[in-house]
Amino acid sequence: MIHRHTNDRIKIANQQLIKQNNLTLVFNLINRLEPISRVKLARLTHLSPTTISSLVEELIEEKLVMEIGAGETTSSGRKPIMLKINQNSGFVISIELKAGKISGGAYDLKCNEILRKSVTGHDLSALGDHLIRFCEILMDESKLKKENLLGISLGIPGVINFNDYTVVSSTVIERLHTNKTFYKEVDQFYKDVPILMENESCFAAYAEHIIARNNKDEDIILIDINEGVGCGIIIDDNIYKGAFGIAGELGHMVIDMHGRQCECGNRGCLETSVSVPAIVQRAAEVSARQKSGAFYDLIQTGDAPTFDLLLKAFQEDDPVVIENVNYAADCLAVGINNLVNLLDIRQIIISGDITKIGDLFIHRVKDKIKQMAFELYGDKIEVNYSTLGNDTVELGGARYMLDNIFEPKPGFAEQGI
Ligand SMILES: [Zn+2]
Repeated sequence: MIHRHTNDRIKIANQQLIKQNNLTLVFNLINRLEPISRVKLARLTHLSPTTISSLVEELIEEKLVMEIGAGETTSSGRKPIMLKINQNSGFVISIELKAGKISGGAYDLKCNEILRKSVTGHDLSALGDHLIRFCEILMDESKLKKENLLGISLGIPGVINFNDYTVVSSTVIERLHTNKTFYKEVDQFYKDVPILMENESCFAAYAEHIIARNNKDEDIILIDINEGVGCGIIIDDNIYKGAFGIAGELGHMVIDMHGRQCECGNRGCLETSVSVPAIVQRAAEVSARQKSGAFYDLIQTGDAPTFDLLLKAFQEDDPVVIENVNYAADCLAVGINNLVNLLDIRQIIISGDITKIGDLFIHRVKDKIKQMAFELYGDKIEVNYSTLGNDTVELGGARYMLDNIFEPKPGFAEQGI
């Protein structure tokens, strides 16, 4: 008897999962291809007309989708009723957590920004409260009703443990891992709303794939280089997470086992040669030894070596800076070549402050890859700078939330964790 109950429960759970997947599929198709008829949805999904009708009925009842009258006449002569997203019937909130800053926005069901804002200064130990207050202020200022909130996404600059939704480590916000409860506080405050947390680079990669590249049918890798090195991988239109949810920890791929000490405990991680502070530090050290060059002159005035000063010296053709920038480009090329050998992905997008170095950097990366890669594909690997703005993480988080609004919550509230 126990077995039968267990089997029944599994069967019901499976049916619910299939239904959620089908709702997601139909909602996303309407969102991308509207106006669209039920007949066309059935044709595209290979689901039966009855199943499509019942799924669409549910979406209409939830006010997420609406009928907009007749479309073009079909061969049978009957004009089908067309369906479209009820754009303003709901919204999602997408947040990017930065060092000492929370920024985020509210987005309608077509992923258009309704309001975006940012607040500076937050106490890490009260991060859950800060995030909740941010959401409440955002809804207040944009006059959005809480009952229409469909989900919240959190883009985090760090490695996430998806077993208990805590942060394991973060290069950008050093002590972020010490707050073990912020996700659960937000999740429990907004009990009926799904809360998605992802590494920020995954959301940026998703935005790049869906929005900038117009959902082209190609896998991509996005490498985000600022204080640290983040990476998001999109395979089959979805964020690739791997077994532990940490796929894309490219910053800690060792490319020189005798290299510099990394914060993670290993030596020669990509981050120790390619991150913006690493490039600045190396160039400053060599300049100080050689006591010459534009960068040396700039930091002699008493200013701490910064990336802006390094860029200035780079414009003035400081040979020390050029050499260090080239070294970083070569290391990045090694990392990309490793990834390409592993995953066979052709489209590589580079984002973050590193892009300020300009064309010379990316050309060097491409040339080095061409030298290293197998002849078969060496010149076919595309490496480009991101074309999206500084709201990429939020935009990607909003789009990802909208594409997953029927996903069940992790269930911490029920488990009492
Ligand atoms: Zn490391």
